[in-house]
Amino acid sequence: MEILLCTQVEENCPSCGTPLFKLKGKSRYKEYEIAHIYPLNPEPHEVILLQHEERLSLNPNHEDNLIPLCFSCHNIFDNPKTVDGYRDLLGKKRTLIKKSSQISIFKQYQLEEEIAEIIRSLVDDDVDFGAPAGFDAKNINTKLNGVINSLTKIKIKSDISSFYLFIRDRFAEMERISPSKAVLIAQQVRMFYVKQSTLSLTQQEIYQNTVAWITSKFKPSSQQAAEAIAAFYIQNCELF
Ligand SMILES: [Zn+2]
Ligand SMILES: [Zn+2]
Repeated sequence: MEILLCTQVEENCPSCGTPLFKLKGKSRYKEYEIAHIYPLNPEPHEVILLQHEERLSLNPNHEDNLIPLCFSCHNIFDNPKTVDGYRDLLGKKRTLIKKSSQISIFKQYQLEEEIAEIIRSLVDDDVDFGAPAGFDAKNINTKLNGVINSLTKIKIKSDISSFYLFIRDRFAEMERISPSKAVLIAQQVRMFYVKQSTLSLTQQEIYQNTVAWITSKFKPSSQQAAEAIAAFYIQNCELF
């Protein structure tokens, strides 16, 4: 479990970013301790301090209550415990748990490898996307009506107007060569979205997870191409 906890924080102290291991020659030295977010044996004053605070697990030894910290951050966290420090670390852990569960969802939800052809065509040096603003992203404001920041909304709209027609043509080509392939990919995106909607996430998180999922699937991976594809599926209503 300790290895998993270190992997979850990408082997860096989640409070200050210091590496959890120091290398000397061929040996790796531990520069961290596993901290209990809610204390294992709370002092009476800690019980009172934290009595109304949320816990990620009622079992203090559960992995959701454990987090590696460098020695200094652990010391600062414990001496003395403060409500702010507790909430801060709990928030970090909650984000880490969400991220870990997304990584396993990414593996679980398939995406046909032909999506890589679309990505490749988007990142091709000689690509011609046609006239700028070739497509009017209608209805997008009604679809993006949840918690999503304006910057992302503008990005999605601009991706739709720049790339929607191009991506639609690539999928049409794919359909001609391998019938039903594009339909299958659209369904896989839909399934991924349905799964995301069961997790009480914001539209912002779902959009970001979809982009990360597409990016994680095949090489070449390109964040920008994945964003363009996600925008395509928002316009096509597989997403939102
Ligand atoms: Zn630290
Ligand atoms: Zn401690």
